[in-house]
Amino acid sequence: MTPMLARSRIGLAATRAILSRPVVLVPTMGALHDGHRSLFRLARACAGPSGSVLVSIFVNPLQFNETSDFEAYPRDEAADVRVCGAAGADLLLIPPVEEIYHPGFETSVRVGALTQPLEGAARPGHFEGVTTVVAILLGLAGADRAYFGQKDAQQLLVIRRMAADLGVATEIVACPIVREPDGLALSSRNVRLTPQQRAAAPVLRRALSAARARYDAGERDAEILRAAMRMTLAAEPLAAPEYVSCADSATLRELERVDGPTLLSMAVRFGAVRLIDNEPLP
Ligand code: AMP
Repeated sequence: MTPMLARSRIGLAATRAILSRPVVLVPTMGALHDGHRSLFRLARACAGPSGSVLVSIFVNPLQFNETSDFEAYPRDEAADVRVCGAAGADLLLIPPVEEIYHPGFETSVRVGALTQPLEGAARPGHFEGVTTVVAILLGLAGADRAYFGQKDAQQLLVIRRMAADLGVATEIVACPIVREPDGLALSSRNVRLTPQQRAAAPVLRRALSAARARYDAGERDAEILRAAMRMTLAAEPLAAPEYVSCADSATLRELERVDGPTLLSMAVRFGAVRLIDNEPLP
């Protein structure tokens, strides 16, 4: 079935009013793939036959710290609408930039320490862009729940923090990472990899698995786990690591010893394409 479509705040308010609850929101930047499809499936199951799934598709300029990355971000609205229809979405929000950031817009939502390391250090301003747009979308959607992928583990933590701090009524739900058969986490950016880079990209997963294997064998020295990831990445000439991390999964502070919930994570460049991946321990 073709979902309803809103392109403006007013249009969304009008259609949102006729949706039956629970309303489940899935925010995306489009270029939809099986990772997004799994979020839609989980959202549909959560909403049930009588509830509603609302998908937003918005490539948020505020969260891109490189204009070239924003411009090169893949966009295919017609294909995205088909994917959402097939996944049983009830309503799509596809606004132009000026509908989200209207003339005179001057508000920003900034989360503190959690946004400083890892992606925050590598991409200044990124999380402020994310939390600002997610706060707007949560406000406009008035959803009972919003679904986010564990693929962007730091983003999920930051959004949870923001929602708790601002008293957002929408429940934030985490969904597992969807991977290609060779282990590469699905990402809209994967289509920009050359065939050689695509063949090399599963090294992220292998690096995480190398560290996990050391952990499973009893290793608790975080630097040894980071070294295991670095060594695997170093064996792949097309991979240029930006960071590898073994951090406390609640604070994202780098660990010396692993003795509680931990997040292994990394960002790796393949030419102009930047990929991220992560794995929780235990
Ligand atoms: P994006 O369109 O990249 O902003 O992603 C929209 C949502 O889909 C975010 O919550 C992502 O974490 C999630 N997502 C993206 N890729 C995957 C994946 N491979 N597995 C699970 N969730 C994903």
